[in-house]
Amino acid sequence: MKTDTVVIGGGIIGCSSAYYLTRAGVKVTLIERRGIGEGTSGACDGFVMLQSKHPGLPLRMAMRSAEMYQGLEEELGYETQYRRNGGLVLIENEEMREIVEPVIREQIREGVPVEFLNNAEIRRMEPLISTEVAGAAHCALDGYTSPIHTTRAYAKRFRDLGGEILTDTAVTDIVIRGGEVCGVETSRGTIEAKRVIIAAGVWSPYLGEMAGIRIPVKPRRGHLMVTEAVEHSLHKILLCARYIAIKHDPSLAEKASDPTFHLGVSLSMEQTLNGNFLIGSNREFAGYDLNTRLEILRAISEYSARFVPAVKALNVIRVFTGLRPFCEDGSPIVSSVPGIGGLYIATGHEGDGIALAPVTGKTVADMVTGRETEFDMTPFAFSRFAEKEAAEGGRT
Ligand SMILES: Cc1cc2nc3c(=O)[nH]c(=O)nc-3n(C[C@H](O)[C@H](O)[C@H](O)COP(=O)(O)OP(=O)(O)OC[C@H]3O[C@@H](n4cnc5c(N)ncnc54)[C@H](O)[C@@H]3O)c2cc1C
Repeated sequence: MKTDTVVIGGGIIGCSSAYYLTRAGVKVTLIERRGIGEGTSGACDGFVMLQSKHPGLPLRMAMRSAEMYQGLEEELGYETQYRRNGGLVLIENEEMREIVEPVIREQIREGVPVEFLNNAEIRRMEPLISTEVAGAAHCALDGYTSPIHTTRAYAKRFRDLGGEILTDTAVTDIVIRGGEVCGVETSRGTIEAKRVIIAAGVWSPYLGEMAGIRIPVKPRRGHLMVTEAVEHSLHKILLCARYIAIKHDPSLAEKASDPTFHLGVSLSMEQTLNGNFLIGSNREFAGYDLNTRLEILRAISEYSARFVPAVKALNVIRVFTGLRPFCEDGSPIVSSVPGIGGLYIATGHEGDGIALAPVTGKTVADMVTGRETEFDMTPFAFSRFAEKEAAEGGRT
């Protein structure tokens, strides 16, 4: 079998890359060892949030992606459930305010329209929020999409445009000759291709090994709880300041005395279109283990009720975990691979892969087709690790 470009991974990053590549006229085969959206993209929230992004390239790309999300459902012709109702970062106490205010002020300087609210103003916007919450930052451009609908929408439109999807097919080797990609070996045979995109989320390091490179990504587990569906009463997506604090500085959790903080628990909450509340979450390194931990679920229940006491009355109908693809320096990799012609990597988006999927897929397509990318992608280049290792080697 022969194609032009193979995309490995049928999560949101692989599906969006496959779609934008096909839209740019490239013949693409997407290979997924299970089903579309059965990895992390089917086990997560769908916040398309600006306030949670690092100022700099991640924030600028998130702003572009949020813009792309607005017209996406119409463009793809399939449901994504994207809606822009705004988002709140709830500030629990003065300690948290001191940590997040500088980050948010930096975001404002970069052009994100954020307003700070006091408790009365928050409760006028969202009456469910506790009177104990000290304050909040509100951004009207924050929104929510259904990760699984969006992933499938990309895959379906990709197929409509002539793209080929092979599910239940695992890539078992990446074939490289004379420093150039020649194709992949799969559980169903060989596929010749002159380009390969590794978009396999937390499993990308295994694909890297096949190509003889180290992709420094590891799974960072998060728990989520789904409640019964109830009448719509929460309009915004909610995070807390601690979420931003832990994301930007994971060591804060290790030092914390509050047991929920120590477990890496912070708040994420939204009410889906069906009326279910989706409540999370935590961050922990536990390898590829997808089991849930009761102490984490208890901590999430207790902690989330501090912000929205009404959730105490809701029945939880399902709990699950997902594995965020965490890159060792905290930034994604969206890049070609120096020394291996035709090999590209798009992974390591940690808790931002849904938000950044449109802009990542478009950037991959621009790189592969030799067009100028919209952003200077140097901070997300794969070469940064080799440079770091060389610098460290030089010091020892
Ligand atoms: C609890 C939680 C909450 C989150 N909330 C948000 C949020 O609100 N907003 C946000 O933007 N992001 C969020 N994220 C992050 C987001 O879910 C991820 O960044 C994103 O889903 C990663 O997508 P991906 O395509 O890189 O990986 P995946 O969706 O995991 O896709 C990779 C695919 O590669 C396939 N694969 C692996 N090996 C092979 C092989 N050898 N051959 C073929 N196929 C292979 C896998 O089966 C898998 O389907 C959250 C994550 C978690 C866990």
